[in-house]
Amino acid sequence: MNGLRLIEDFLNTVDERTFSRHGQAHVAGERLTSPQALADWLTSHELIATATAMRPADLTATTALRTALRQAIAGNISATTALADHPMRLVADPTSGLRITARSGLPWLDVIVETVATSAARGDWKRLKLCAAPDCRWAFYDTSRNGRGRWCDMEVCGNRHKTRTYRERHLRHVGGKPDNNDRGVVQVRDAVAGGLDPS
Ligand SMILES: [Zn+2]
Repeated sequence: MNGLRLIEDFLNTVDERTFSRHGQAHVAGERLTSPQALADWLTSHELIATATAMRPADLTATTALRTALRQAIAGNISATTALADHPMRLVADPTSGLRITARSGLPWLDVIVETVATSAARGDWKRLKLCAAPDCRWAFYDTSRNGRGRWCDMEVCGNRHKTRTYRERHLRHVGGKPDNNDRGVVQVRDAVAGGLDPS
């Protein structure tokens, strides 16, 4: 699994999505509900050998790192701050010259920390983002050309945003002063025809 794809998956082990789609409310949830659930997730991502036992402290340390990294991709803290509890050093590497390594005693955390630190040093870390929709917050890799993508999925959160701003704009026309041309009227009529309640 490609490095940042792994981090994306890790950050989405907590699902904060609560919006409705096709009339169905999404049920938010936590995947890492127990040390065993953590072991299962790590095994499926080849980060630990099968049947490695996890302790409650392992789960706490893992979710703490996840929280810090989600804060970082939301832009609330820097990657450096998010990784502050994980000392790293540079070691000589025969192929790349130098490699960033972490030694926390928890090998899977080290892989995550090293991946994030390397990506931050390389510059593609800023492409990992949290969806801007407050009722989504899904972690995604922004593949847009200019790197200014805001939504996990244009078809879902992008369109929800468009519909919302459209509705707000036209409700303002109804509630406040319409434009002094008839464009506002046409737009309100379209909004009503589109099933939006203008009242
Ligand atoms: Zn989203």
